[in-house]
Amino acid sequence: MTRNPEALPGFAEKLVAWFQRHGRRYPWRETTDPWAILVSEVMLQQTTIPTALGRYGEWMRRFPTPAALANAGEQEALRSWEGLGYYRRVRALQAAARAVAERHGGNFPREEETLRALPGVGEYTAAAVLSFAYNTPATLIDANVARVLARIYNDATPIDTTEGKRTLRRRAEALLHRDNPRAYNSALMELGQTCCTPGTPNCRDCPVRDYCRAKEPAALPVKKRERTISALERWDIWRLTEEGLLLELQPPEARHAGMYRLPQRPREAVEALPHICDQTYSITRYRVTRHLHRALKPLPPRETEQIIPVSRLEELPLASPDRKLIRSLLAQEPPGQTR
Ligand code: SF4
Repeated sequence: MTRNPEALPGFAEKLVAWFQRHGRRYPWRETTDPWAILVSEVMLQQTTIPTALGRYGEWMRRFPTPAALANAGEQEALRSWEGLGYYRRVRALQAAARAVAERHGGNFPREEETLRALPGVGEYTAAAVLSFAYNTPATLIDANVARVLARIYNDATPIDTTEGKRTLRRRAEALLHRDNPRAYNSALMELGQTCCTPGTPNCRDCPVRDYCRAKEPAALPVKKRERTISALERWDIWRLTEEGLLLELQPPEARHAGMYRLPQRPREAVEALPHICDQTYSITRYRVTRHLHRALKPLPPRETEQIIPVSRLEELPLASPDRKLIRSLLAQEPPGQTR
């Protein structure tokens, strides 16, 4: 058999041995339950590890099986996800839980094709479940792994091009520990998170430095497109009465469908109203500035808007910036003191 020129004999074993000594223990690394793995993968998609750690245990106690989430209401699921953002993830997770219950009698699929047929489960997530739950050889390439591979092979091919992705895939396959993909994949990610970090890596303590060809690791990986952040402004209404707070329920086609938010209006409709405050926050590739104005009189009614009693606000799903702002304003201005 011809030897793969990109294979690095001993690399995987060395990395796994290091991980077994130094790897951090996370609850999703202590389980082989495919549902628990799927939840962690979905949660970690756009959430940092410390934030996910603070929420994962609570989520798993509330929804320990696909059936538990499948039987919950959509608003209960959204409320439980609050603060984690990117709510399409929890909608997809609930749809996947329902598919497991309905199509597979509650038994989690074990084949890639069947896993990928679940809502919200793409190539990466399916590979993660296969590898971490079933110890099936499957390559996982996230930002950490891409950085490590670009440095190990000292390759300046942009990792966000077709050629760059193809090269990463080929090398990930060449390095994969086929006998222990579960530990190997965790180890490669751990290396990127703790040692081979963005900027200047800690090469001195790197367990695979003897294999690494990087000359200037801080300059790798190269990307063709850098992410641009766009500014976005919105004008919102604060209408607090004795009966409660005016909120808008997001329609099914909206990004935050099924969640509530402060009602929005065109700039010219609110500019003349008393200004309360501005709030800035980031969402995906936007830096949003919200200008909040007080509506002293009732607004022309809209089907999607309703006055919600303040006592019910905590049980309803709200996007985090809305929750934060509403809590802060209610603390300063309880409903009995409305103007
Ligand atoms: S030697 Fe340095 S650049 Fe190479 S893999 Fe290790 S930490 Fe990364």
